[in-house]
Amino acid sequence: MSTVPDEQGHFGPYGGRFVPETLMAPLEELAAEYARARTDPTFAAELAAILRDYTGRPTPLTFARRLSGRLSDEAEQPIRVYLKREDLCHTGAHKINNTLGQMILARRMGKRRIIAETGAGQHGVATAASAALFGFACRIYMGREDMRRQALNVCRMELMGATVVPVESGSMTLKDATSEAIRDWVTNVADTHYVIGSVVGPHPYPMMVRDFQSVIGRETREQVVAAEGRLPDVLVACVGGGSNAIGIFHPFLGDREVAMIGVEGGGYGPPDQPHAATLSYGEPGVLHGAMSYLLQEEGGQVALAHSISAGLDYPGVGPEHAYLKDSGRARYVWVSDRQAVAAVEALCRLEGILPALESAHAIAHLFRLAADVRERGDAAPAGRPLLIVACLSGRGDKDVETVQEALRAREASA
Ligand SMILES: *Cc1c(COP(=O)(O)O)cnc(C)c1O
Repeated sequence: MSTVPDEQGHFGPYGGRFVPETLMAPLEELAAEYARARTDPTFAAELAAILRDYTGRPTPLTFARRLSGRLSDEAEQPIRVYLKREDLCHTGAHKINNTLGQMILARRMGKRRIIAETGAGQHGVATAASAALFGFACRIYMGREDMRRQALNVCRMELMGATVVPVESGSMTLKDATSEAIRDWVTNVADTHYVIGSVVGPHPYPMMVRDFQSVIGRETREQVVAAEGRLPDVLVACVGGGSNAIGIFHPFLGDREVAMIGVEGGGYGPPDQPHAATLSYGEPGVLHGAMSYLLQEEGGQVALAHSISAGLDYPGVGPEHAYLKDSGRARYVWVSDRQAVAAVEALCRLEGILPALESAHAIAHLFRLAADVRERGDAAPAGRPLLIVACLSGRGDKDVETVQEALRAREASA
């Protein structure tokens, strides 16, 4: 187990709390309640029961037989790939592991009003579903432009009783919605809990969301040992804010033989074209209450990120990933929009699984890994197959139109 963060939420030089004075008290209250809940067996029992009965956990660890065959051919060495199926969670992605944990905390703190911001709407849908389950009032802040692009998710949230509040300021996207949500929290903090959707923001969110998502890695560990009798050689996961990646990585951090690769959104191709490869091309800076790597313009302004997948389209990244990068314990790479779309097609055809565009970034990197194995001959030790677990963070129904558009554009330019 890692010993980070410290009491103030520092992961080495990263993390912490860079917030206005008015937010210090609610963050302290949340940290204190979470510290109590963490050691309270009734909290753990309730969360485990909800994850089982409502979310559908444990999610399967699926051996991808035909994908493994394709990659083994490419590598000229045996490769075995397993997929951790977070796409089979209720509401279609890993995000609900976190939102349900935060609902139990909100109830413990006597807060019955839930707010969140959302970009693509996946976190908004998970929050709306979780709030409905607990009977809480729910308000989701969403940029007007994002509401237009993600009309289906707006409809899902409203059906579940949430009020979706259009944000008209700035670029009318996630960054502006976040500012509105924070304003609401400051005003209504007595009865309101603010649900952050990834391992970002001020302490204790990066630690707390990591702990809630670590169920992914704990299950994976048991399942892969049951299936293969050993730990994997490599874990691969996509990184937006970094919650599904840290969730699968965290229970393996102490196992030095397990390599970890986080895959960021390479957009049109960094560094010259717009992208979201924060850890590869960013610099340390402060965004949304914490110190981490950050995409910045020359003058230190936060740069606009781009990725074809809305969940990776973020100029920041969770502070623990910054720490893991600097320490060398995990490695971070990027995959372009184009490669991600090709990976969606590949997984559909080889396995009959339609992945989210975010998750497709992790799948796309497997093909690069296989090519590296062939070129460098650096397969697994002792002549055994290279054993890989990729986190399939979500299902791709939400992305069908985007993928279709990208395929048409590709055909037109071919
Ligand atoms: C939101 C989302 C992501 C990115 O968020 P992380 O915090 O980096 O996990 C990845 N995959 C899916 C399916 C998502 O909905």
